[in-house]
Amino acid sequence: MTHRDDHLDDGGPALISRRTFVARTSSCAAHIGLMAAASPPLLRLGWLAQDRFPVAASAPWGNLLRVAEGVWALVSDPLADRTTLCNGGIIAGRAGVAVVESFSTPAGAEWMIEQARLLTGRPPTHLVVTHYHADHSAGLAGALGQDLDVVSSDTTLDLIRERVSAVPRGILDDAVVLSGRRPTELDLGDRSVILVHRRGHTASDLSVEVPDASVMFCGDLVWNAMFPNYVDATPSRLTQEVRVMRLLNAATYVPGHGPLADASAVDGYLTVLDSVETAARSAIERGLTADVAGAEYSLPAGFEDWTLFSPSYFARAIGAWMTELQG
Ligand SMILES: [Zn+2]
Repeated sequence: MTHRDDHLDDGGPALISRRTFVARTSSCAAHIGLMAAASPPLLRLGWLAQDRFPVAASAPWGNLLRVAEGVWALVSDPLADRTTLCNGGIIAGRAGVAVVESFSTPAGAEWMIEQARLLTGRPPTHLVVTHYHADHSAGLAGALGQDLDVVSSDTTLDLIRERVSAVPRGILDDAVVLSGRRPTELDLGDRSVILVHRRGHTASDLSVEVPDASVMFCGDLVWNAMFPNYVDATPSRLTQEVRVMRLLNAATYVPGHGPLADASAVDGYLTVLDSVETAARSAIERGLTADVAGAEYSLPAGFEDWTLFSPSYFARAIGAWMTELQG
């Protein structure tokens, strides 16, 4: 068996299915590249096309779906191509156009900015980054030379400065900084977009909410059909924040990764989050390490087909909960 290099930091994460993970890990020490090769195309899983959302543009890295009048969501296919890697969007108003996320590469951000121009006939005026993780922020250089405001929270901009070396410092220094905890209105003329400070996935996660269209861009607070990354999570806060977002009962939730969600899909995601907490409490009771608990963890009934970027995500999630519970 030929093992490909399994380092995740340069090429970004691979994607595997739980079933493939279980089948492979016994014989092959979690070599991500091999597992990605064995995963089914996401198109077949129904991620990239949903009947209720017309496809406005298609690219090797994902589909741009029209979710409401003047609102589009990019559903990335991280298995096929890593140009964008995360989901994002475009929100148009009479006086402005906002792009959500700068994606994993400048080419991804440039493509999305160009789509905004093609779909609305105008260049975007704002680019909102939900949180600092590189798959959402590393493409910021693609906004250089554009006449738009990069918008994010003070904490997120500081974390990008510290940890995402691909982002030119000038673009961060020129950004519109959201400080404090109050929601901020982005006035697009005939449409208000509300940027809400939340946290739980990282120390600072913005949700980008379009109340008139009942659409919420969730950043990585919400994942759908993919197991979430707890690398920076405050688990109890994450669950609480998602419950609050669910109570808003949006017609469409755009997750950070995976297919577009409705309220019942967010309920499903909460079932998965709760199962991680249960697994962590059980691990503490039985004196298990996070690694052992992660190896024995299985997704709740009905969610077995969820995929994950890395087999380490189960142990990482349970470990994050154990750390929090054990103080
Ligand atoms: Zn992400």
